[in-house]
Amino acid sequence: MWNISFELPLVMILGIILAFFFSRPRLGLRRSRIFLNIVIIETLTILTDLVACLVDNNYAAYTITTVKIVNALYFVAFFSRAYMMYLFATAVMKDTLEKDAAIRVLIRLPMHAGVILTLISVFFGSWQFTHVIFYADGYGYHSGQLYNMVYVCGFYYVLLSFISLFLYRRKLGRRREKYSMLFYNLIILAALILRLALPDFLVMDTFIFMAILVVFLAFENPEYYLDLKGATFNDLAFNEHLAEHVSSLDEIPIGVSVYNYHEMREVYGYMQMQVGLIIIGKYLKQLCPKSRVFYYRNGRFILLTTSDIDVNEKAQEIIERFKRPLRSPEAELYLSVGIALYDLAQPEYSVETIASTMLKALDEVGRTGNVTTFFEEYLSRTEKEKYVKKCIENALETRSLELYLQPIVDTSTGKVVGAEALSRIKDLDGKIIPPGIFIPIAENSGRINELGELVFEKACEFMSESDGKPKNIEWINVNLSPAQFVRTDLAERYAAIIDKYGIDRDKVHLEITEGCMIDDAFLQKQMDTMTESGFKFVLDDYGTGYSNLSRLKKCPFINIKLDMSIVWDYCKEPEEILPNMLQAFKYMGFKITAEGVENLEMADTMKNIGCDFLQGYYYSKPIPQDEFVEKYMS
Ligand code: C2E
Ligand code: CA
Ligand code: CA
Repeated sequence: MWNISFELPLVMILGIILAFFFSRPRLGLRRSRIFLNIVIIETLTILTDLVACLVDNNYAAYTITTVKIVNALYFVAFFSRAYMMYLFATAVMKDTLEKDAAIRVLIRLPMHAGVILTLISVFFGSWQFTHVIFYADGYGYHSGQLYNMVYVCGFYYVLLSFISLFLYRRKLGRRREKYSMLFYNLIILAALILRLALPDFLVMDTFIFMAILVVFLAFENPEYYLDLKGATFNDLAFNEHLAEHVSSLDEIPIGVSVYNYHEMREVYGYMQMQVGLIIIGKYLKQLCPKSRVFYYRNGRFILLTTSDIDVNEKAQEIIERFKRPLRSPEAELYLSVGIALYDLAQPEYSVETIASTMLKALDEVGRTGNVTTFFEEYLSRTEKEKYVKKCIENALETRSLELYLQPIVDTSTGKVVGAEALSRIKDLDGKIIPPGIFIPIAENSGRINELGELVFEKACEFMSESDGKPKNIEWINVNLSPAQFVRTDLAERYAAIIDKYGIDRDKVHLEITEGCMIDDAFLQKQMDTMTESGFKFVLDDYGTGYSNLSRLKKCPFINIKLDMSIVWDYCKEPEEILPNMLQAFKYMGFKITAEGVENLEMADTMKNIGCDFLQGYYYSKPIPQDEFVEKYMS
């Protein structure tokens, strides 16, 4: 009567999924637990369905009680499955509707009603009016008056799933995830419709099986959360785990970062480094067997350990371990690590804040190689950065970024001949945020190009006399961040801006630091292209990086600005090297500017050793444009 031949293979494939699921390390996320429940309930539903079919087809051979029990088991599994499928969708969507007790009761009502009605059918099935879901008598199994409850329940939960998908769709980051969830819901819907249309074919179990397969492939494949050949969990796993446990994180984090990871990878090569990382991952796991070990790219590991562990002791153990090489048949590496410990008494912060603070701490110990404990202030700094980011966005949107100008004086005439443009933005209360704070944040959040161009444009506008005031300075310097300098379309973009204001390209000089000089060949090409189209470059902060004469010789700078630290050191304790170096620069054709000149004595000293220009508080602090015009141009 019923076609059940394809049901057994489904159970076998579900078995394979389960075996695979348990064979790999698992995170224990809520949704994975629900997924596991679904696989088990689906298996039970199919098996009880099978058994019920066999028994019902051959009812004469069984007692009425047997018929009742097998059918009841099937219905209970059916109702639970409908609810579980919905629950999985909500876990993926991070739906929080069930948090409200009243809504929770409402959501679970059809499942509970279904189960209760099934029980009534079994225990009180001897009266006609309690033949609710089904009844069994001497003629076998029969559907009851409220048999359609299975459809009510099924459609109810699919509908809720769709609502959840609609309400919380923004919580799903990737397109693939959205489409997988949509597909999942559509398959369940199709399953119900087909069951209504073709009740004898038992296609519902197959369709639900397909829906399970979709979410297994899209979300629950354990491989998605593993790294380093399964030795650790990956960054995705860390984010998901943190998102789920952030409000009640009872695990203690220990961050382990390979010291100078990028340089070490150059030294050892990618393949050998990978082997080294796997060894580290396995070592950390074995060090704290109860902990979870995550690898967050770039040589950064995070251990989430149980609170009974003495983290300082573990940190020492880890440091000791790295005194010995990491060895395997195909690798031998001598690495050391920095360790980040966290003392976060009341981390009432968002997941993003906590995650990015942990990573920043990891980066810091990766640079220093120290064992450092990070306190709560560190977290609040991340919050402040978020605020500054908002202020940057606001300044860009309203173009309210302001240029402050600091005069630059020609030592031969003592007159102001130029200025450096230093940008300022305001916070939401109108207080100035210094560039030392917002420039690095703009650099790290992808806004520096926009910001730099706005500064450049404002400087062009200032020099263009579009306000009717003549500008009797020869040039203005603007700063260019490394991230701007490496753009291949920089010449084009800056030419378009400066041409808009109809001024000569040598009126606005571009200051770059040695941070731009990573790639010699690119540096030279970029500078040559831009110089050919008329731009002039100034080397900023000389003395803080690694410039050497042969590199400088190749680059068409017009001016070298000595960093304040060099100027101050020399003024405190004059020596022979700096004056000689300046002679060499002059011989090479560079002009020289001294920054940070704070008094007359410093000005004289720097002038005497050959500086062409001076800049510093002795002349003026950076001041707003209007003030600058009033003071120096009228
Ligand atoms: P910088 O380019 O080295 O600018 C010189 C900094 O030294 C300015 O700080 C200036 O106010 C300060 N300064 C000048 N004379 C003296 C002095 O005599 N004594 C002391 N103690 N300090 C002096 P500011 O304005 O806070 O700017 C800091 C840095 O922010 C700048 O260093 C520059 O690297 C960056 N910056 C500022 N505006 C921009 C911009 O529009 N784009 C980019 N990419 N960076 C910018
Ligand atoms: Ca500068
Ligand atoms: Ca400087």
